[in-house]
Amino acid sequence: MPDNRLASPDGARPAGFVGCDETIERLYYYLDGELTEQRRVEITRHLDLCGPCVGAYGFETELRRVISNRCKDHVPESLIARVADALAEEYTRQSN
Ligand SMILES: [Zn+2]
Repeated sequence: MPDNRLASPDGARPAGFVGCDETIERLYYYLDGELTEQRRVEITRHLDLCGPCVGAYGFETELRRVISNRCKDHVPESLIARVADALAEEYTRQSN
């Protein structure tokens, strides 16, 4: 769905609106909690208005979650479930 709040016809951004490139770049700091409150607000605002960046944010969050889980030597339950499903499928194929 088109969002008219994103840009006016001449491409001008609303005051204080942070662009996609900048937002993606800042996401890394955002996720590390290294941003100031002001920057966090700007990014949160961008994510409210911009679908593609929300996708990138979700991806980064998931990636970091998996990485941190792996560092703690803990396998995500979703992965365990996927492996279990694959094994069950394999077992079913073999017994048929
Ligand atoms: Zn964006």
